[in-house]
Amino acid sequence: MTGTPRPRPYGSYVYAYPHKTAYRPLPEPPELAALWADEPKDALSLYAHVPFCEVRCGFCNLFTRIGAPDGLTTRYLDALDRQAAAVREALGDGAPVRFAAAAFGGGTPTFLTAAELERLCDIAEHRMGADLRAVPLSVETSPATATADRLAVLAARGATRLSIGVQSFVAAEARAAVRPQRRADVEAALGRIRDAGVPVLNIDLIYGIDGQTEESWRYSLDAALAWRPEELYLYPLYVRPLTGLGRSGPAESDREWDERRLRLYRSGRDHLLAEGYEQVSMRMFRRSGAAPEGPDDHACQTDGMVGLGCGARSYTSALHYSFDYAVDMREIRSIVDAYTETRDFSRARVGRRVDGAEARRRHLLQSLLQAEGMDRAGYAERFGTSPWEDFGPELERFAEYGWLDGTAPEGLLRLSAEGLAHSDGLGPELFSPEVRAAMAAYEPK
Ligand code: SF4
Repeated sequence: MTGTPRPRPYGSYVYAYPHKTAYRPLPEPPELAALWADEPKDALSLYAHVPFCEVRCGFCNLFTRIGAPDGLTTRYLDALDRQAAAVREALGDGAPVRFAAAAFGGGTPTFLTAAELERLCDIAEHRMGADLRAVPLSVETSPATATADRLAVLAARGATRLSIGVQSFVAAEARAAVRPQRRADVEAALGRIRDAGVPVLNIDLIYGIDGQTEESWRYSLDAALAWRPEELYLYPLYVRPLTGLGRSGPAESDREWDERRLRLYRSGRDHLLAEGYEQVSMRMFRRSGAAPEGPDDHACQTDGMVGLGCGARSYTSALHYSFDYAVDMREIRSIVDAYTETRDFSRARVGRRVDGAEARRRHLLQSLLQAEGMDRAGYAERFGTSPWEDFGPELERFAEYGWLDGTAPEGLLRLSAEGLAHSDGLGPELFSPEVRAAMAAYEPK
């Protein structure tokens, strides 16, 4: 054994690497036109961020604010339109620009009215040139905002996937997660989504809430399964700095909480597998036979990502960039306000450079955390080395912990079931020392 202490199972959710807390203001902000000049642009992803919600859920550290007073959504869409025009100009016409996927996230995109959603689609189509009806379009929604008129707009404009955060079908658990909602309202929203005829319904659930047991977890899973969703995401609960949730009392130590979350994860996973779902990653399950219609949490192809809105990231092969980031409500409000007043969107101002070594880490992280694993030949073809040459000590440690699947076919680096269960402990082990240091130095605001 190496003697390195085994990481806790719930370190952090690695949905993007490097994490935004490793971004910093860029000295001499580069021009977007120069950043994008030599990038492949024929299969870009488009992401539009809508930073508004009706309530702030207790577990949420996403970049979003409560409500939008005094015409703020209009001013926000005006700014998004200006940004889209600037970004499209920066992409240039020297080579074909084509979007292969689109997503509206947040926040809650359906916080916008039906007319505002039309405008958002117009910006994506007319300003950016994304053919929304021809590519997968994924949109996040919430029970209160999934109204028939908004869903009709999204369906007509080409949405292929609607993702709704339910978290728990048990009222007391929803309250404990500071997301009060009535079961009847959730069921009605799910009915409206099905009526809208969008091909893929995704339901998000959370485990590890105070008071949640294996029985109550099963109850929520079964309530979700009754809708036969094409996808289910099972999220472990996290309590993060500056969010609304404090865990109550010393009834359960961190270690006991970890163990309870692992138990709930395993029972949830086994239940979904028995119900005909396939596991795509630690969090994501897809109904067998359901066509993938939106981006997975798998993001190997996301080198070319164009983000619009003040919480959106953009990725070129050499730079990941966004705007300022915060979790605290007051800070978020001032960043959104500053965004709506921005006139010059021609430069990247906050971000992190991604060199060759970081690109390897990113590739390994994004493929290894998928249930299907990583094709070693693809890695060798892209980087000219093998993952064992580049990450030998880390992979040896994972093997010692039993996190690698020794039965995987030759040429495939794949996590074992336990490795997948520990994705949030394993992922951060692959962060570079530089990214780790930047994340540690970040002061939450
Ligand atoms: S979890 Fe979703 S609905 Fe809740 S505050 Fe965060 S972005 Fe808004």
